[in-house]
Amino acid sequence: MTGPDHVAPIEARVAAIEAILVEKGLLDTAKLDEIVQHFEEDLGPRNGAKVVARAWVDPEYRQRLLAAATAAIAELGFGGPEGDHMVVVENTPAVHNLVVCTLCSCYPWPTLGLPPKWYKAPAYRSRAVREPRLLLAEMGTVITDDVEIRVWDSSAEVRYLVLPQRPAGTEGLSEEALAVLVTRDSMIGVERQLTT
Ligand code: FE
Repeated sequence: MTGPDHVAPIEARVAAIEAILVEKGLLDTAKLDEIVQHFEEDLGPRNGAKVVARAWVDPEYRQRLLAAATAAIAELGFGGPEGDHMVVVENTPAVHNLVVCTLCSCYPWPTLGLPPKWYKAPAYRSRAVREPRLLLAEMGTVITDDVEIRVWDSSAEVRYLVLPQRPAGTEGLSEEALAVLVTRDSMIGVERQLTT
């Protein structure tokens, strides 16, 4: 049967198409995984890292970014679908921000690329709200009790980007060198302390 009630979820449809392409020798799954990983870890998040580095070196840019993120991000040339209503939330010594999409997997594509698998997992989506401190500790990020954790639930309308704190001892670094320090996970908020 066909019709809207019988359409498989997007994951099933993609898996079916992938299986056919592999069977016909048109697609190499290892190559495909490599491409997805490249978008998840390299390409996309490097844009967000440039935004963060600019905010660290330019206080006026930081103000614009926190006040009207979409426009400030567009100044660096990034924007478009899945990123046209951006909000940037700033970590401070007293506040840690964590981004989740409890409903599905909304994510700021222009600044972070594709969401990692765990971001889409039901466990992350529910626990980020229910027990963020415990979840973060299990992911290797211990947030001490004196630091407030603010959880931001993304939606089709609003996408969030965390502005991590600039690491100590980086006063002499250029904007380009600073951008290299910024990780994808720090801009989602599952990492807090950047290493130099
Ligand atoms: Fe979503």
